[in-house]
Parts: sequence; structure tokens; C-alpha cells
Amino acid sequence: MQPTYSPDTDEFRSKITAFLDANLPEGWAGIGALAGEERSVFQKQWRATLREHNLLAAAWPAEYGGGGLTHVEQVILNEEFAKRGVPTAGANDPFSIGMVGNTILVWGTEEQKAHYIPRILDGIDVFCQGYSEPDAGSDLANVGCKAELDGDEWVISGQKIWTSAGSTANMIFTLARTAPENPKHKGITFLLVPMDQPGVEVRPITNMAGHDHFCEVFFDEARCPKGDVLGEVNNGWAVGNTLLGFERGVNATVTSLAYGAEFEQYKEMVVERGLADDPVVRQDVARFHTNVQIMRYRGMQALTRFLKGQNPGPESSIGKLFWSQHHQAITESAMNVLGADGTVGFGTDTRGGLGAPPIGTPNTAGNWMASFMIARPGTIYAGTSEVQRNIVGERVLGLPKEPRADAGPWKDTK
Ligand SMILES: Cc1cc2nc3c(=O)[nH]c(=O)nc-3n(C[C@H](O)[C@H](O)[C@H](O)COP(=O)(O)OP(=O)(O)OC[C@H]3O[C@@H](n4cnc5c(N)ncnc54)[C@H](O)[C@@H]3O)c2cc1C
Repeated sequence: MQPTYSPDTDEFRSKITAFLDANLPEGWAGIGALAGEERSVFQKQWRATLREHNLLAAAWPAEYGGGGLTHVEQVILNEEFAKRGVPTAGANDPFSIGMVGNTILVWGTEEQKAHYIPRILDGIDVFCQGYSEPDAGSDLANVGCKAELDGDEWVISGQKIWTSAGSTANMIFTLARTAPENPKHKGITFLLVPMDQPGVEVRPITNMAGHDHFCEVFFDEARCPKGDVLGEVNNGWAVGNTLLGFERGVNATVTSLAYGAEFEQYKEMVVERGLADDPVVRQDVARFHTNVQIMRYRGMQALTRFLKGQNPGPESSIGKLFWSQHHQAITESAMNVLGADGTVGFGTDTRGGLGAPPIGTPNTAGNWMASFMIARPGTIYAGTSEVQRNIVGERVLGLPKEPRADAGPWKDTK
């Protein structure tokens, strides 16, 4: 089966490819070919180019400064960009646009949309995600970071952890406990908090691949205006879950392109190393080919929801579970194919980032080793595999819920 788009979308696709031809640097091989500083300089400039051409958050409503494209046009844009290995936005935009911006469009008041959406697009407000805490990860509703009203401001105290890109953000969206006397899911509020203030301290954490990807964030009587609550006070659990649906599902339509490109590199390496007739390796090749095709069809399924104007919802957990497990399996198999070469250092590591390697990433042992490590946390961030399975079981398949021992008022475990 070869699902196709209707012919009337061809014109838009040609427009996007013409835009890429006109605006990408000569000899462009994909952002994976740029390392370190060169990559971040390109991405900053590219974001500005996209903004200038109304192609940043291209499906956001034009009335708030978005591109005003249809959902299907946005998907076509994502596909063409993914094929050429070009980012659709800046480095923090998975949080600013993909997560909180989309959630503001669902839950925000008119005033909040008019204020935040243009500021996000213009890069004035750059967000990170302040959900996890030392005692609240899988059990996210256990957040203990507290917020209390003081006149016209919320005063926030507590700790967040694993805050990706926290050191490059000036805003953090956060879940805070505002009614400790309520059951734990009913006393949480979703707040938009400025980070450039004395009450916020950010401490980077270096991961095992050697990257300063995430941080700890400490709030010590940090403040945000009373009106910077998304959704109602004490209804942050519902708002927070809308955002998680975007986090887990927003890239579903292009996931197979990135993992497909990585699979092509894997096959190349198998052939180069004379293992194309090895029966065990051949089984892996077949398995990974099948996985990429499954991702493609899952993407089509997600697109159907998207075109109906539905938000990603709990079904996005199926895709997240699938690509993260696939990535661990293919990178582990790559380590076996590389043998002793897989133990080399990071000399050729141009990877950075999370998930599949961006197109253009050189097919080197160093990069496979980095990918192997980067794939490890894939089954942890945005919710662990066990948590995704619980969501699929309970909220997609409607199976009986896990027994829960935490009814009644929230308990401070500190
Ligand atoms: C690379 C990376 C980036 C991240 N970025 C961010 C970010 O930007 N912002 C943010 O807020 N957080 C971020 N996180 C944190 C991430 O969301 C949490 O690590 C994750 O939710 C798991 O929580 P935990 O680490 O506390 O593990 P725990 O919740 O303590 O889980 C430990 C183990 O117990 C299992 N487990 C827990 N509960 C159950 C259950 N009910 N049933 C079965 N098994 C269970 C888990 O699956 C896991 O194997 C990031 C994490 C990583 C690795």
C-alpha cells in the first residue's frame, strides 16, 4: 500500500522544495553534517529565515502571527524539511512551539494567546519544561514544588530536575502544587514562569555521552504574575496532559523519515563490513526495515487524527514506545556489527541532540557509539516505556486501571 496525498497538494510541495533550493547553503548535506558551534549558528539563522517567510509554526493561526497554513500543508512542509535534513525551528522550539505554544492555543485565554504566541515566534520567550522533580517522574502528579498567591503574584519554591535545554531558556512552564489539601491530581496548577530572576537557579548536568543536555532548576520564592496560569488554578493536571500528548506525538508524521535514513546507514555499514550474508544480521536488517515501515503507517494514522483537528491524545504513547525501543535495538545491533571499532572514542561524534541522528550525520563508528548512548534515555524521557504501556493499556485499550494506593489528600513525602 502506498498512501498518497491528494493531487491539489502538489503545488504546495513544489513551493516548499523551491523555498529550500533558494534558501539552503550551497552543497547542503543536512544539519547532521554540521558540528558544534557551526550547527547552532546555522539553526539560529535558519529560524530567522523561517520566521521571515512565515514558515515557523506554519499551521498556527495567522491572527496570532503564525503561518496560517492547513494541517496537511504543515505535514508536507515537515516531510520536505525532514528529507533534506533541515530543522523546522530553533533549538528550544520543541518546548516553545511544539509543547507549550500548542498547549497555549488549546487552553490559553485570548489575552494569553495574543501575548505569548507572537513572543514565542519572535524568540522573545524561549521555554523549557519544568515537570520532573526528584520525587515526581513517572508519578508526575506527585509534584511537590509549591506555589502560593501573594497579592497579584504566585510565589514558587521547590526543585525541578532533568530540565532539557534549561540553560538556554528564559521561561519555564511548570507544574506546581497549589492545593496540598486536595487529592494529588486536583491540586496542581500549570504556570508560566520567567527564569531571569533572583529566585531561579539553573545548574547544568552532564550526561554519559558528555553533553550538557539538561539541568536542575531551583525555585526559591521565584515569582510570576497571577494571570500566568494556563487553564484554571488546580486544573494543571489536565493542561499538563494535553502538553504530554504534543510532546509524545507531534513528530509522528516524520519519525519514519529520520529512522529510515538511519536504517540506510546501518545497511551500508553491514555491506561494507561483509556481513550481508550473516544470518543473524540479516534477521536484524529485516526487523529494522519492518519497524521503519510500521512507523510510517503509524505516522499516517497520526496524520488522520491531525487532519480531523484532533490533538495527539494518549495514542501518541504507542508511537513513542515504538520508536524509542527500535532505536535501542538498532544501535545495539550496530555496536555488534562494528565489533571492536564500536569501542572507539568520540573523535567523530557530531551527533548531539536526542532521537534519530539528523540527516547528514557521517556514518562513522564514533557517531554510532554516540547514537547507542543517546538511544538509552529514549525509553525514559517523555515518560518511560512502562508508563507508556500503562497509558496504552488503560487509556487507549480501556483495560482495568492499576491499583493505586494514593487516594485522598496529597502527602508531602519530604
Ligand atoms: C534525556 C532526558 C531528558 C529529559 N528532559 C526533561 C525535561 O525537559 N523536563 C522534565 O520535566 N523532565 C525531563 N526528563 C525527565 C523524565 O521525564 C523522567 O526521567 C521520566 O519521567 C522518569 O521519571 P524518573 O526519572 O523519576 O524515574 P522513576 O519514575 O523513578 O522510574 C524508575 C523506574 O520505575 C518504573 N516505574 C515507575 N512507575 C511505574 C509504574 N507505575 N509501573 C511500572 N513501572 C514503573 C519506570 O518505568 C522506571 O523504569 C528527561 C529525562 C531524560 C532521560
